[in-house]
Amino acid sequence: MSSTDYYRILGVARNAGPDEIKSAYRKLALKHHPDCNQGNKDSESTFKEINEAYEVLSSPEKRQVYDQYGAEGLKAGGGGRGGFGGFQGADLGDMFGDIFENIFTQGGGGGRGKPRSRRGADLKYEVAITLEEALTGVKVPVNFDRTEVCQECEGTGARGKAGIKKCPTCHGAGRVQYSQGFFSFSQACPDCGGQGEVISSPCKACGGAGRQKKKASINVKIPSGVEEGAVLRVSGGGDAGQRGGDSGDLYIQVNLKHHVHFERQGRDLTYECPLAVWQAALGGEAEVPVIEGGRIKIKIPPGTQHGKVFRVHEQGMPSAGGKARGDLLVKVKLEVPHDLTPRQRELFEELSNIAGHAPPAHDEKEHSFFKKILG
Ligand SMILES: [Zn+2]
Ligand SMILES: [Zn+2]
Repeated sequence: MSSTDYYRILGVARNAGPDEIKSAYRKLALKHHPDCNQGNKDSESTFKEINEAYEVLSSPEKRQVYDQYGAEGLKAGGGGRGGFGGFQGADLGDMFGDIFENIFTQGGGGGRGKPRSRRGADLKYEVAITLEEALTGVKVPVNFDRTEVCQECEGTGARGKAGIKKCPTCHGAGRVQYSQGFFSFSQACPDCGGQGEVISSPCKACGGAGRQKKKASINVKIPSGVEEGAVLRVSGGGDAGQRGGDSGDLYIQVNLKHHVHFERQGRDLTYECPLAVWQAALGGEAEVPVIEGGRIKIKIPPGTQHGKVFRVHEQGMPSAGGKARGDLLVKVKLEVPHDLTPRQRELFEELSNIAGHAPPAHDEKEHSFFKKILG
């Protein structure tokens, strides 16, 4: 029986599973690949051994024969194949799968540019502003947590220049050649992720991550006329990228605080104007607030009904960007007095007697307020 021990060559236990065997093989194959060890005869023969061992141990049938009869048994009963001339169909397919998986999981389109670099996460925060602030536009301080590049190591994750050393696997190239039979592949080095460098001594401040959580504060300029729920993007304001990747963006959602007087409907503002019954009946003037502050007077014609809307031009909100203002819509809300004084009661009773409990003749169709309270 041959003394060739395939398990020892791959450095795995006799009961190792297929995944364990595959991963041991890949590590060794990369390490001893002739392209990485040019002119080294020992490496070349080791590489051959590794491939031979893997071919047997990765095939359940061959492994079984080998376990029972050793390498000699395989040669004898190998169906005249004569030795181990490289990879066969199934194994090659496997290898393709592996390599593509590798390239994709390491990102960076196969290792060009910034290998293993990753864009930082986008962040989203909400701010609430008043309607007055939405009218004029406002700068709002936004305080939030984000991940920033570590100041101590400037994102390298290493303690000073001496904390970084050339990757021993790829010798600084960042890529490793990998060939089987006619096929030759190049892939990002699995040990340094294509950086060509590895951290030998991690940065104390960030523990090697190259990034740290920080409290950030920025002033966000919210434009005049901003809509409820509008989302502003601060490009690059999110989490810092990894290994030189771009920062994510910061999204600020603008909410409007409830206003004591106004409701917003697009560019228009609505105000509910309370009027006493006699004010509405007799007509006159009413004072209404405006968004800039202060009040203006509007005319109330005699016989004004509940729900009537008066439009005050250009006292609404501007469109986004600050031009063309909407209107202020003043909606009449008739207020029926409760807790009448004796004198008031007297007058209402007199009014009731004069009207004879009949609805006003001129206003049959409209839902007359007087009809309701006096009828
Ligand atoms: Zn650091
Ligand atoms: Zn490397």
